[in-house]
Amino acid sequence: MASCEQLAELYEAYALGALEGAELAAVEEHLARQCPTCTPGVAQARALVANLSYLAPAAEPPATLRRKLLAAIAAKPAGAAAVAVPTGATVRGVDSVAQGRARAPERAWIPAWAWVAAAALVLFAGYTTFQMRQFSREVAVLERQGAQEQQRSRALDSERERYLQALNIIGAAATRRLQLKPGKTAMPPVSAYWNPGMGLVLAADKMPDMPPGRTLQLWVVPQQGAPISVGIFRPNAAGQVLMVMPPANAMLMAKALAISDEPAGGSPQPTSAPEWVGPVS
Ligand SMILES: [Zn+2]
Repeated sequence: MASCEQLAELYEAYALGALEGAELAAVEEHLARQCPTCTPGVAQARALVANLSYLAPAAEPPATLRRKLLAAIAAKPAGAAAVAVPTGATVRGVDSVAQGRARAPERAWIPAWAWVAAAALVLFAGYTTFQMRQFSREVAVLERQGAQEQQRSRALDSERERYLQALNIIGAAATRRLQLKPGKTAMPPVSAYWNPGMGLVLAADKMPDMPPGRTLQLWVVPQQGAPISVGIFRPNAAGQVLMVMPPANAMLMAKALAISDEPAGGSPQPTSAPEWVGPVS
């Protein structure tokens, strides 16, 4: 029987739905008997995965599609038929999608995954075949617009790349989770995910605002010698951190990871006591 300690490394993979077979059964067994370690551990992993989802690039669906989705979700399954669209509405539908988009009075930036989830809910609500066909046409328009948007914005692209890399590392079998504990209790913990072949992910939420001119810097504290800088980062406007770094040789001899508050651009060596520290066992 797997111990809670062994299962701790599987919480994120479980939250991502990436576990199978014996590992999945082991986690579920602990959850079924409301294990006091694994239950909060999985809850925390779920929260983290949900927060990562919010970091996924936002997509702005056409206003008509958004209205239709929201109406379909709000309607009871029996009422779903009321959303029926007359035949031959394809071209008009596409036009109104384009217009709705051009006007777009309220810009609701909603992550792409939320629309996937909404689409799944619509399916559950019992959409008719005809409505499904109409819906998939609109999705095709949405996808084309999405592709154009992607071409326009390289930044968005790299954001998505980073997000996918982070999910890949967090969900990988050989990844170890390290917890960096804050020195001050008011600060949130920082999670690190280390995979020797894939790299390191640093993730945190509810981080306090940082004054301009300051940065956070991640250090590998080796078994012997001075700390080695791994990278600098700042929380985004929402207080979230998602940093992905390629595999660093320094990690192989790490005794601990530490994060210190440094002047913008980082320091060759820490200039202040670390604000977060986590052992690498
Ligand atoms: Zn347990």
